[in-house]
Amino acid sequence: MTRAEIINFLKNRPATVNDLAIAFERPASAIEEDIKHIRTSIRNDPEYELLVQRPTCEFCNFIFDSSHIKTPSRCPECGKEKINPPVFKIEKKKH
Ligand SMILES: [Zn+2]
Repeated sequence: MTRAEIINFLKNRPATVNDLAIAFERPASAIEEDIKHIRTSIRNDPEYELLVQRPTCEFCNFIFDSSHIKTPSRCPECGKEKINPPVFKIEKKKH
């Protein structure tokens, strides 16, 4: 079951959608779907949480909000299309 494998992967190291697509040999769109489900299901997990390093614009450093799973196509500030993708990881919750 790939979702459990993705969760294990992200517990060990941070990754982008593309990193996961390569590691699991699946299309990026399928990985995005999986992360969406993981994000929802992990909300009920008492031990772990999904952390997102938010996407940023390479040109003006605009920071997108953490809801993005797909890399945004264009920066709303400067209009450029070079956006650093969000990076996901799963960590133990700090109490
Ligand atoms: Zn920008």
